[in-house]
Amino acid sequence: MPCIKIITMRTGQINVQTENIFPIIKKFLYSDHEIFLRELVSNAVDASQKLKVLSANGEFKGELGELKVDVILDQEAKTLTIRDRGIGMTADEIDKYINQIAFSGAEEFVQQYKGNEGAEQIIGHFGLGFYSAFMVAEKVQIRTLSRHEGSQAVQWESNGSPEYIITEIEKDFRGTDIVLFISEESSEFLEKSKISEILTKYCKFLPIPVFFGDKTEYIDSPEGEKDENGNVKRVAVEVPNQINNTQPAWTKAPVDLNQEDYDAFYRELYPMTFDNPLFHIHLNVDYPFNLTGILYFPKIKENVEVQRNKINLYSNQVFITDSVAEIVPEFLTLLHGVIDSPDIPLNVSRSYLQSDGNVKKISAHITKKVADKLAEMFKKDRADFESKWDDLQVFVQYGMLSEEKFSEKAKTFSLLKNTEGGYFTLEEYKEKVAALQTDKDNKIVFLYTSDAEEQFSFVKKAKDRGYDVLELNGPLAPHWIAKLEQTVENVSFARVDADTLDKLIRKTDEIPSKLSKEEEEKLKPVFESSVNKDKFSVQFESMSEEDAPIIITQPEFIRRMMEQQKLGGGGGFYGAFPEMFNLVVNANHPKVHLLLSKDDEAQKLGAKQLADLALLAQGMLKGEALNSFIERNIEQLA
Ligand code: ADP
Repeated sequence: MPCIKIITMRTGQINVQTENIFPIIKKFLYSDHEIFLRELVSNAVDASQKLKVLSANGEFKGELGELKVDVILDQEAKTLTIRDRGIGMTADEIDKYINQIAFSGAEEFVQQYKGNEGAEQIIGHFGLGFYSAFMVAEKVQIRTLSRHEGSQAVQWESNGSPEYIITEIEKDFRGTDIVLFISEESSEFLEKSKISEILTKYCKFLPIPVFFGDKTEYIDSPEGEKDENGNVKRVAVEVPNQINNTQPAWTKAPVDLNQEDYDAFYRELYPMTFDNPLFHIHLNVDYPFNLTGILYFPKIKENVEVQRNKINLYSNQVFITDSVAEIVPEFLTLLHGVIDSPDIPLNVSRSYLQSDGNVKKISAHITKKVADKLAEMFKKDRADFESKWDDLQVFVQYGMLSEEKFSEKAKTFSLLKNTEGGYFTLEEYKEKVAALQTDKDNKIVFLYTSDAEEQFSFVKKAKDRGYDVLELNGPLAPHWIAKLEQTVENVSFARVDADTLDKLIRKTDEIPSKLSKEEEEKLKPVFESSVNKDKFSVQFESMSEEDAPIIITQPEFIRRMMEQQKLGGGGGFYGAFPEMFNLVVNANHPKVHLLLSKDDEAQKLGAKQLADLALLAQGMLKGEALNSFIERNIEQLA
């Protein structure tokens, strides 16, 4: 340590209108104490960048040297120092920028924010960035040497009361040290791991190198020592640990980046993610607002929630938050990546943010960019777009359901996939099936399955008739179908197992029934006794003789109601709607007729057998019922 000459130059009161701001800072900004480090390191970076600018325009003529920021932890002295080699401050500048903080009405404002999640945001608002140091320090020193030639280095010191002392000191090089004497109750900030963690969170992409501690690196032996194989030995050396990448991908021009760079940056953002994203959008706007960033489309998994809220918001490369819900429409929170904008007001409450004009424009812009990108991909390379569709569909459906503007654009590229693996736009599909699947009221019926395996027999029957069947699954499918029925003219959707084919697409008047009314009435109770009456309603229908003797259906509206209950939108029936099925008996099937000629016992057994076979075909025969079916059949084997 150089010998320090201490001359008290001046003392004074920090110019704040309120008695004492420090208790307020300490009390109300408790939730996020760690941001003091973000504030101080950003100030250090600003001071370094300002010097670069002054040097470039000739105002600063000295040597720039290595412009870097050091964060230095001294556990013995219980200090944390943030050191830069930037513009520094003269005593007058300290007076102007640190002492004379304009702070009118602050207390009133702070009171308003008491306990509010926006509390942290008032810090920047009043230029209190530096003062956030007092959230964790009992004493703070600014030790600084200005860039002006022949300047006197000075130290400002305050212990958290509004009094400060400015003294002359000796300081070897230009720039500022902010020395925090960490208070007892904030001792966590004297832990190396804690500081590392905070720096990684907020400072990972700052534009000036930031160093903290050392790390081990392996280099070729400087003495040229060889190992037994004659290779130059590798030796461990301790090198300063730079915590940031000063030129993250989003700050570069897209032409300077290739696919690997984008994938590498994705992994830099999310080191724990192994999947590569599907594709990305590089945002770059400078009018009417400033915005850069890269948004990635992840492969959307079953559990959407864990993938949500991964977009990081930056302001000039300083991390602000990973909660961008107020800035982008909800469906875009499924995307990953970075948005950097100095035009997003960071110092205001969340509700204010939503009504801010700039934020609205930014949100609309991002939505448009995303839709345009998808449209462009679809147009440029449809095969590639189709190969990504299964992973994309939830995202597009979500967007269509929640943003009208997006929905408009998405109509041209949102796809329907059929059981043959073909992909069609809505219009294409309408054209494809119109000839065969138009019903007698001129509605085009889109048949779909939610699970081609489980609903195999229905899908097969439909295909045997020449109908086409779509595959519609995923968590949003029920809502999306409802949306398409509203938006695409003259189309309705029906799941293949919602009814008999003749009823799903009604063509002509019904096929005549071979069972008389009396015969139906005689058989109905027999079938009813073969199943649980509360769950199945027995109906007769005249189908083709080739159709199955019995099929189990679930009316489209009951199923949608059940699905909506599951998704949480009960439509008034929440939790009250029982699961119901139709047991549809084919009145024209020869085996059904055969029952009429049998005695009561044989009739019952026959009906039970037919019903169980129908249940079995649809994977609904389970447990006890399945077991007794098998035992009964073994017994009957001659
Ligand atoms: P803000 O950064 O929002 O202006 P701060 O309270 O963080 O508010 O800082 C107030 C002012 O003090 C800065 O605008 C700057 O002029 C000066 N300052 C703070 N830290 C430094 C530093 N490390 N080097 C030079 N000047 C600084």
